[in-house]
Amino acid sequence: MKRDLWKYATILLSASLLGYAVGATLLVTLFFAIAIIVWQLHRVNLIQQWLDNPKDNPMPEMGGLFYVLHKKLSKRNAQYGKRKRQLSAYLTQFRKAVSALPDAIVLIDAFGKIEWANGNAATLLGIRWPEDANVRFGDLIRYPEVESMLLDAQALSSSLEINSLAHNHQTINLKSVPYSKSTRMIIARDVSQLIKVNQIHTDFVANVSHELKTPLTVLKGYVEIIQSAKDLPTKFKKPLEQMHLQGTRMQFIVSDLLYLAKLEDKANLAPHTDVEVTHVINAIIEALQPLLENKRHKIELDIDHHARIRGAETELHSAFSNLIANAINYTEPNGKIHVRWAADSSGAIFSVRDNGLGIPPHHLSRLTQRFYRVDTDRSREGGGTGLGLAIVKHVLQRHNAELEINSAEGVGSTFACHFPDAQIVLVDQAQTG
Ligand code: ADP
Repeated sequence: MKRDLWKYATILLSASLLGYAVGATLLVTLFFAIAIIVWQLHRVNLIQQWLDNPKDNPMPEMGGLFYVLHKKLSKRNAQYGKRKRQLSAYLTQFRKAVSALPDAIVLIDAFGKIEWANGNAATLLGIRWPEDANVRFGDLIRYPEVESMLLDAQALSSSLEINSLAHNHQTINLKSVPYSKSTRMIIARDVSQLIKVNQIHTDFVANVSHELKTPLTVLKGYVEIIQSAKDLPTKFKKPLEQMHLQGTRMQFIVSDLLYLAKLEDKANLAPHTDVEVTHVINAIIEALQPLLENKRHKIELDIDHHARIRGAETELHSAFSNLIANAINYTEPNGKIHVRWAADSSGAIFSVRDNGLGIPPHHLSRLTQRFYRVDTDRSREGGGTGLGLAIVKHVLQRHNAELEINSAEGVGSTFACHFPDAQIVLVDQAQTG
């Protein structure tokens, strides 16, 4: 830079001396100054041409400031070229890896248009890349559920199952995962086999339970006949009582298992009506009255009579009854149970709070698994089958609702069922009662 300044200063000084000698100092100096500017512009132009197209335009030979600038730019250019090659190698490798995945991967933009798809997208979804570039995903996979999944931009990740358009009897699980501000990755997986295995498992449990029903009734019947015999030796009384008790327990388990199998069957949907939750709760409390009195619990009801659930009354009765019965069973005598039903900003909530035994936190996530109990003996003593909360979970799933459990050991528990707005009907005061 300094050298350049000296050079141009010297030229201009010499020009002014020359001008002075010929009697036109200003004119000659101006002429040389313009010549210097034109020369610099020419060099800038050469550099620009070289930057625009380095392959066709050779690197211009120059000195001074332009030489330094030129050197730095060439170095940057070389680094950029290397980085570009590296990135494109990574990209090719990444695309190869994604293509090798057994799942179909489709990248879509903010408008649901396809940006890229791997090879398996053609097999599982019939989406071909690059032919289907920029086509809307929803136009190729025409299901209303898919449309609403794509519209729900807020959802962190959502998933649904659809029947394959390409292959009959194939069930595809679609998962939509946002991976940048406006783009989403759709992952599709063939879950037909998994569903088949689950179905076999459900059918097996349902069949075994069904097969056990008749022998159990027969056994219990004979036990009752023997128990009623006048000449029954005293030593048989206790064993027969136990046989009767265990027979009854097995009947409860079988009936709960059959009910669960029914709930698991998505095709077997009970007709949905506007269920008056007030009536359901009253019926449950009436049925559980002997149990409540036996334990001398105080029960408080806080019920919003305007809110109804669009759902299956028998299923809701069974779920709510399980929650209230649990609160009664797992609370020491003279306890307090609070049953609440209220509409809220996101729908409505049914909750049962007790001041009973409470549940240690590490059990909470597993409570809705079949036969999972915190204290097996206590559950059996109270006539529990270990299936109550599994039934609650399934009923709620069938009503798009969610179960939230809060509990502290020795303090009590709250089981809350959150129903979404779409499942709630609010009626006028005049219609209630
Ligand atoms: P069970 O027939 O054993 O009651 P559930 O599925 O209804 O089966 O409940 C599973 C387990 O969760 C119970 O065995 C019990 O340990 C625990 N549990 C459920 N409700 C409560 C509650 N309100 N307070 C304390 N523990 C509870």
